[in-house]
Amino acid sequence: MHMDNTAFVAPALLKWHAQHGRHDLPWQREPTPYRVWVSEIMLQQTQVATATGYYDRFMRRFPDVATLAAAPLDEVLHLWSGLGYYSRARNLHRAAQQLVEQYGGELPTTAAKLVELPGIGRSTAAAIRALSAGERGAILDGNVRRVLARCFLVTGAPTPRAAEKRLWQLAELCTPDEDVAAYTQAIMDLGATICVRRRPLCAACPLEAHCAAKRSRRQHEIPAPRVRAARRTRAVVMLLAQRGDGSVLLERRPERGVWGGLWCPPQFPSVEAAQLYAATRLRSAVIEPRSLAIVRHAFTHFELEITPLLASCEAWAGVMDEPPTLWYNPAQPERLGLPAPVSALIQSIT
Ligand code: SF4
Repeated sequence: MHMDNTAFVAPALLKWHAQHGRHDLPWQREPTPYRVWVSEIMLQQTQVATATGYYDRFMRRFPDVATLAAAPLDEVLHLWSGLGYYSRARNLHRAAQQLVEQYGGELPTTAAKLVELPGIGRSTAAAIRALSAGERGAILDGNVRRVLARCFLVTGAPTPRAAEKRLWQLAELCTPDEDVAAYTQAIMDLGATICVRRRPLCAACPLEAHCAAKRSRRQHEIPAPRVRAARRTRAVVMLLAQRGDGSVLLERRPERGVWGGLWCPPQFPSVEAAQLYAATRLRSAVIEPRSLAIVRHAFTHFELEITPLLASCEAWAGVMDEPPTLWYNPAQPERLGLPAPVSALIQSIT
């Protein structure tokens, strides 16, 4: 297959990056494999501006693989609370434990071994090696994908699989033999700050003169807008059972599924089911007439509609430990993973 000339990409990006790239991100200081790995995972679905605060807290608490591996999952999820996509945190924790068992707490030094760890795909593995060791490897995260697709007019046709293959080929061809760390950071930064999804800033782009999408004025069509089925709604009733000391009953969500491993008030399909639970499992429970506003939370594939039901009660009446439950006192919070809307709900009743 004839490939487009890609030789202009690396020099243009390196020059641009030296002047305009980001050089003071927390993970760029001391870019050890561990620090780069955590940053790459956080940045998968989170913007830099949000990620940096989380990243600093995470690193202060878990400065190395061994500390992360030894920590309770609750604490890892606690420091991830509000970032969403919690499987990322569970995978980091699991991978850290594997690293301690198999590699003495270090990250393996090849991309091929890195992709065997939970949560690390081909692009992330290459980014870890490139940014921490300057090792050459093609990356294709969301930002790089957009830059290359526009620059070389890869539209998703004839099939998404063919387009994917072409993008990897282009990523491979564009990656220089030298200055790989700077180049990798540069193309990711370009996608994050200039070649953004909506209204790319082509006039400020170092690739503008060669960009096929810009030339044919198609930069707004690429990537094609995702066709999403209408998001369905899932309605649940959350029972906020509160004791006199302000503590609220929480149970741990199953590992698999939404908010896996996080702590939430018990959920029910209906108000009646919640009332029955309160009547049979909690001592002296009184459902409060004060009605709380419905909370809506959007996930990728559906919207969760939470109807909160407030109940005051004295104590336990033999709720079994399956799923694990605890009384959470917002005045003396434990280090647990709480989904952001749950955290907000608890705050609203205290
Ligand atoms: S010229 Fe515009 S569309 Fe092309 S790579 Fe640069 S920012 Fe993206």
